[in-house]
Amino acid sequence: MKKLLFLLVLSISFSQCIAVKSKKTTIVPASNSIIEKEFKRPKLIVGIVVDQMRYDYLIKFYNKYGENGFKKLMKQGYNLENVHYNYIPTYTAVGHTSIYTGTTPTNHGIISNNWYDKYEKKSIYCVDDKNYKTVGASTGGEKSPYRMLTTTVSDQLRLAQNMKGKSIGISIKDRSAILPAGHTANAAYWFEGGDEGKFISSTFYMNELPKWVSDFNNNGKANEYLNQTWNTYYDINSYTETLPDNNNYEGLFKGKETPTFPYNLAELRKLNGNYSLLKAIPFGNSIVTDFAEATIIGENLGMSNFTDFLAISYSSTDYVGHQFGVDAKELEDTYIRMDKEIERLILLLDTKVGKENYTLFLTADHAAVEVPAYLNSLKIPGGYFNDDEFKTNLDKITLERFNSTELIENISNYQIYLNKEKIKELKLDANYVSQVIADEILNINNVYKTVTGHTLQTTNFDLGVLQTLQNGYNQKFSGDVLFVPNPTTISYDKTGSTHGSGYSYDTHVPLIFYGNGIKKGQSDNYYPIIDIAPTLTSFLKIAQTNGNTGKPIIEVLE
Ligand code: ZN
Ligand code: ZN
Repeated sequence: MKKLLFLLVLSISFSQCIAVKSKKTTIVPASNSIIEKEFKRPKLIVGIVVDQMRYDYLIKFYNKYGENGFKKLMKQGYNLENVHYNYIPTYTAVGHTSIYTGTTPTNHGIISNNWYDKYEKKSIYCVDDKNYKTVGASTGGEKSPYRMLTTTVSDQLRLAQNMKGKSIGISIKDRSAILPAGHTANAAYWFEGGDEGKFISSTFYMNELPKWVSDFNNNGKANEYLNQTWNTYYDINSYTETLPDNNNYEGLFKGKETPTFPYNLAELRKLNGNYSLLKAIPFGNSIVTDFAEATIIGENLGMSNFTDFLAISYSSTDYVGHQFGVDAKELEDTYIRMDKEIERLILLLDTKVGKENYTLFLTADHAAVEVPAYLNSLKIPGGYFNDDEFKTNLDKITLERFNSTELIENISNYQIYLNKEKIKELKLDANYVSQVIADEILNINNVYKTVTGHTLQTTNFDLGVLQTLQNGYNQKFSGDVLFVPNPTTISYDKTGSTHGSGYSYDTHVPLIFYGNGIKKGQSDNYYPIIDIAPTLTSFLKIAQTNGNTGKPIIEVLE
């Protein structure tokens, strides 16, 4: 025993000897230099997601922005100008989940906002969970992140600090607060419209709202915003970047004859869902900044010895884009006002948390298409996908080829789910049926590409739309046949914009890192959206998210 101990001591001192020697040769491993520098994390990480923000809005409205909002982030942070979503479908829940988990639906399991659950045999919503109850209102809070199967950066940060340090998600939309904040979140709060007009939560997080949240809900802010008129921030004649205010490509609020300013909100709220109207106008973003301020103060974020995480998602930009389209005066005004919210938020962080104490990033959960009807007027191809016509044609195909119209169980998110029981009953081969359908539906109007789930499981696509389709495909939850409409072709109203595709108009989003530990700079290098999470875990020196498939964006880090 003694001999062994002696040998051990000898070998330790011998290895130390080598270590000293190797130091003399000045080859110091990178990891040593980091440990020697005494590593300190910032006190607060802030994730900002602007729902439906296209990359080009940073440039298109640049001259309308002030010096202390988007421009400050662009000039003093690190602006990545070629960041894309790398999967289909580009929807809100999927976007938020992919940002924070560092992977795509293939791994994290959030394959859409709503999808057909082939096990439960019904359509489900991404964050619905009947195991929990609403906190702070009569309805709207039976939610949890349980369908998200992997961890978020915020989860990893909590784990790394032995569950010290807080993680909180806030947004107008439930899914945009719940998914980013992670499984281990202290809280997620979202805005319940209708006749409630409050920020609420779920018993997944707590049994009652903290006093600061109830106080916020009682402060009359929502009514204040809704009892005014929405007019343009600057003279409307200076809004030269967008189409005339009155045009055929914009949707109407109930009670309006034309899609034009001014919007008398006190009148409009009566016909447009009362407090739900607040979601659909830029002041929905304002109340989120107000609530962010209340959260930071109420929870003392960025003021402990641990690193906190605040995930903020601004959703009203998405509602405005859906209603008015990407080329509307209403949209331009919404981004001019969004810039003021960013300014307010930065000022808030600088004063409450301290300039040196936080690191933030700003991105979007997807972008959006120009209104196809407008593009058509400019001779650009595109159009509208007719779901009913597609279903009729699909029934014709299955009747002709398999003598049945019962083979299709569900069509949603441009995916076809086969009725496996019926296929068995008819003694058909499911892979063969899938392939026949994939081949035949290609002849249907506006169907541009098709692929079977089986092919996605057995072939590796490393380029283009099929690769994005593959990244969005989840073997367990996705459909049996997937299809892609023509470019700029949407299943949507003739007015307003939407998103969901793998084309660049939907995938290209802003990404700016800013604050403690971030370089000043700009880059045109391509990065997929899933690189955000590993950049943060790398920056924080914590374990990667458990499903991570991204890589850290080294060039932004000091
Ligand atoms: Zn969205
Ligand atoms: Zn949307």
